[in-house]
Order: sequence, then structure tokens, then C-alpha cells
Amino acid sequence: MRIGVLGMQGDIEEHLAMLNEIGVENVRVKSIKVLDTVDGLIIPGGESTTMVKLLKITGLFNELKKRIRNGFPVYGTCAGMILLSKKIVSHPEQDSLKVLDVSVNRNGYGRQVESFVANISIASIGGIPFKAIFIRAPQIVRIGKDVEILATYNGDPVMIKSGRIFASSFHPEISKDTRVHEMFAQVVKNALSC
Ligand code: GLN
Repeated sequence: MRIGVLGMQGDIEEHLAMLNEIGVENVRVKSIKVLDTVDGLIIPGGESTTMVKLLKITGLFNELKKRIRNGFPVYGTCAGMILLSKKIVSHPEQDSLKVLDVSVNRNGYGRQVESFVANISIASIGGIPFKAIFIRAPQIVRIGKDVEILATYNGDPVMIKSGRIFASSFHPEISKDTRVHEMFAQVVKNALSC
């Protein structure tokens, strides 16, 4: 099993380091050719506007959209979640892969200086709270009926899943806790044996 990290921009190294720590083979994905070699993909946090542009230039935009719709496992963190969302309600208007039936408000949790850490409880990774780090985080303002909530903060969903699509408003790759990456690796592993 091999998991890719979309390697355009953003928190790439931190996700690769997490995957190394849990013993999962990994690679930075910047082309369709390398995408062909992975069984699942993490889309990191960073700047969603820049990532959309680069995805389109490389042809990965349409390719990813097609694969994710066919059950390819993907996990988007922060800007990665924005990219997966069906609708972005903030302005200016921005394109996205539209594979996850949620609407998000970019920077809905405030600007860089309003970044914060919260202990949240995440269904399916065990009872111990997870130290979730929010940086210019997107806020989920609507969720579709097929979307499951895995964690909330102040009553709002901050981690969700739909089929094999996972997304979180926060950055698990910069906490020391590997449980979220382990959970996603398990999803990728299970998908392989289907
Ligand atoms: N606010 C950023 C965006 O809109 C996301 C921030 C992040 O990924 N930490 O792309």
C-alpha cells in the first residue's frame, strides 16, 4: 500500500513525515503519472486558490475528480477540505472538485492570528481527545444527507466523511498524534482488499 500527498503547495512534508512515522509507504504527487502509483491521497492544508490553479495546469483536477467519484480514498485537511467541497460560500468565487456534499466558508474560523488549538473527540479513533490545530480554518456551514460527522467543535462539524472521502477543518499532521493518519491508512488498506 502506498499513500500519496498532493505536492503542489502547503503542509506536504508534515503529512509525509506522519506517514513515515506510522510505517506507510508514501510519495509526493504532482502528476497523473505519480497519482497512478498510489492507493489513496491526502490533500494538505495550504492555499486552496493556488492549489486549484496548479491542479488544473497539471490535469490532476479532472483526473482526481473522476477517481474520487469512483471510490478512490482521499483525505483533505483544511485547504484540502475546501478543494473537495461541493460549494464554497465565501467570496471571491472559487472552483473546487465538488465531490463532497458540503458547503464551506473559507477562513470561517478567522484569520491567521485567530488560529487556535482545541481538544476534540473524534469518533472511530478512540476515546482520548485529539489536539486539533485550526489555522485560517474553513467552517462547514451545510452538510449533505450522505455526509457523516466524525467530530464537532462548539456544535459545528469539523471532521466528516462520505464513503471513502474524509475531510477535516484542522491540521492533524502538525500534532504529535498519529491516530487520524492511522485511521485513513486503514481506510486505504480496506479499499485495496475490496
Ligand atoms: N484559508 C486557506 C484557504 O482558503 C486554508 C488554510 C489552511 O489550509 N490552513 O485555502
